[in-house]
Amino acid sequence: MCLNAPHGAQAIYFECQNMKKISFLLVFAFPFSLAAQVGVPQFSIPIQGAHLQDYYLVNYVDWSFDSIQDFKCGHKTYDGHQGTDFTLRNFAQMDAGVDVYAANTGVVTYILDTLFDRNKTAVAGGLGNYVAIRHFNGFYTYYGHLKKGSVALQLSDTVTMGQKIAEVGSSGYSSDPHLHFEVWYDSLYYWDPFSGSCGNPQTLWLDTLAYVHEFGLIDHDFTDFIPTLDTLKERLPGQEVFSSSDRVVTFWVQGYGVFPGDISTVKWYDPQGDLWFQFDYAHPYEWWYYYVWTYINTPPADKAGIWTVAYLVNDDLKLVDSFEVAGATAAFEPETALDAKAFQNSEGDLVLEWQQHFPLEDELYIVDMMGTLVYHSPVPSNQQTLTLPIAQALNSGLYVLYGKQGRVKPLRFVFVQ
Ligand SMILES: [Zn+2]
Repeated sequence: MCLNAPHGAQAIYFECQNMKKISFLLVFAFPFSLAAQVGVPQFSIPIQGAHLQDYYLVNYVDWSFDSIQDFKCGHKTYDGHQGTDFTLRNFAQMDAGVDVYAANTGVVTYILDTLFDRNKTAVAGGLGNYVAIRHFNGFYTYYGHLKKGSVALQLSDTVTMGQKIAEVGSSGYSSDPHLHFEVWYDSLYYWDPFSGSCGNPQTLWLDTLAYVHEFGLIDHDFTDFIPTLDTLKERLPGQEVFSSSDRVVTFWVQGYGVFPGDISTVKWYDPQGDLWFQFDYAHPYEWWYYYVWTYINTPPADKAGIWTVAYLVNDDLKLVDSFEVAGATAAFEPETALDAKAFQNSEGDLVLEWQQHFPLEDELYIVDMMGTLVYHSPVPSNQQTLTLPIAQALNSGLYVLYGKQGRVKPLRFVFVQ
């Protein structure tokens, strides 16, 4: 299981769906003719909990030599993947303990559980901590990326179907806590336990594990810090009420099932229902496990109240949640209406023009929609235009003018660079 790197402050990440091809030394699937000759074991689900609630089937066996293809002719795999990944929601869930079960009766033939188990980027390390079990007729199952010290077995122990053998970890080549489950026949062939039109004709599962190929949400919350992928994966407690002591308000969402060109949008609405900030992200790849996050500076006290955040994919509303900005609501005057224009002159400067007396109390602040101050200057109160040599340094977009009394007006600046 592998991931790409995050893309900066407001970022995304995804399961590696397009990893470069690794060496491919093995026959990629069990020859069907052999299935008739040998008794094929049936497997119970090797992990505790419920699919799409406690774990998510992110990567299946790759059936394609030259690209990627899962047993349903989809792309829920990566190049050369030989097993099935049962991925947990986060590391907090891993810490609480998620059991791994023997999928069938057998004998333990290999145990390793001394390795570091909190890897967050996929680097060399293979299965990490793992257990191998030999079943009847030459079948083996492998349980990879286990939690350090969690294997409560000895070599040559006999285990029964459904018996706890270990706990889920993130050891080895692993970016998130997950169980990599792999089936082998006679040390020669690995075998996809699922059946489908691009895979095996016969399933090895005793239970049904739904193949999901549409969008879904895993989790979301607000925090008062700017996250990294690491902090999101830890699933730290969220926050509902924010005040001036909080630097930012962050919204993050974890989901699956986006495709190239899909647009993730996060809309922030102030207590009056006005759009305060919008974040759009075009997904470049098909992702079956991803995070998106965006943050704003904690709104000023005159914007105290219940804020709303909407998350959309391709303008289709996926979730709405709210947080509260606490504060003395009388600290600032309400927004001053200012009939102002903003444009760029032929010298490339930003020009602000307004019709009436400038109400900014001799101070002008321009703040971008991330809440970052991009310009601050004294303003002669008898002027009706102001030329600012800042346009070349700013991107086109929406900015807000502030005076000493608070927000004055949102302005859309379109700069010709
Ligand atoms: Zn895997």
